[in-house]
Amino acid sequence: MLTVGIDIGGTSIRAGVVNPTGRVVDLATTPTPRTEAELDAAVVRVVRELGERHPVSAVGLAVAGFISEDRRLVRFSPHLPWQGAAVGDRLSVALGTPVVLEHDVNAAALAEYRFGSARDRGVVAMVAVGTGIGAALLVDGRLYRGAHGVAPELGHLSLVPGGRPCPCGKTGCWERYCSGTALVDTVVELATDRSWPGSGLAAELAAGRELTGEGVAEAAVAGDPLGAAGLDEFAGWLGRGLALVSDVLDPELIVLGGGVAASSELYLASAVDHYTRAATGTGHRPLASVGVSALGGRGGIVGAAELARDDLVGRESTLRAAPTR
Ligand SMILES: [Zn+2]
Repeated sequence: MLTVGIDIGGTSIRAGVVNPTGRVVDLATTPTPRTEAELDAAVVRVVRELGERHPVSAVGLAVAGFISEDRRLVRFSPHLPWQGAAVGDRLSVALGTPVVLEHDVNAAALAEYRFGSARDRGVVAMVAVGTGIGAALLVDGRLYRGAHGVAPELGHLSLVPGGRPCPCGKTGCWERYCSGTALVDTVVELATDRSWPGSGLAAELAAGRELTGEGVAEAAVAGDPLGAAGLDEFAGWLGRGLALVSDVLDPELIVLGGGVAASSELYLASAVDHYTRAATGTGHRPLASVGVSALGGRGGIVGAAELARDDLVGRESTLRAAPTR
């Protein structure tokens, strides 16, 4: 039985046909349109394209945003035109197949549990660091989604009172200090605080050029002192945040995912050091190990396809059944 998993990103839609062993056997991509009707139509188009080459039984969508507890509605998504949109029912009618929605990091975490670095682990937190931070919690292979489908929103834990403003409306959120975009903000702040002789990054900033997280990481690897200092701060914030995750949830494993995970060798050892020192009761309790996503950018696709399959075969993927009203 083949199902389709679709990762709906802010810039592109990536759809994959996934077999029961979690292998992506075919892929189709298309840019993400800006209007609700066009976005619906684009999803229908990619599924039909894949459906011409494979028998597709059901479709799962991984969406960065708040999904309703019954997984039929996109309540809010900061980068998509779907707001309070009954996407599940609309697409199911248009495609003639069952359609299920899930938060993108929830989908990725489920894929890691079944096929990746969290295989058969009991209590697992996933922290996906990219332009922001998304998170998921799995208990014995089931997603903990909270009472309203929103948990766990770890990226917006307020770590710095009165700190950097966040688009969510609060200040000092973890993701404002620990993400690809935050790394650039940190470097800009450090460059404002003091001079960095010999730093190419400092020279670029002085010339008014925009930096990227990748650019800062590359400069740090090449020995740029400002880049290295930025990466050091990033590692510190990652570690302190992971300590909070560990204190609240006490997982046995934290899986690091998202775009930033691909270069984890640059900061993970330092982050784990900060994490170990910041967690409550270190030395008197077992601490979660920190691993890196095995599925990378395919996690959302594979997990969404698995969720679609779960619904077909009656396998439960959520810890708490959806409330009935
Ligand atoms: Zn926030």
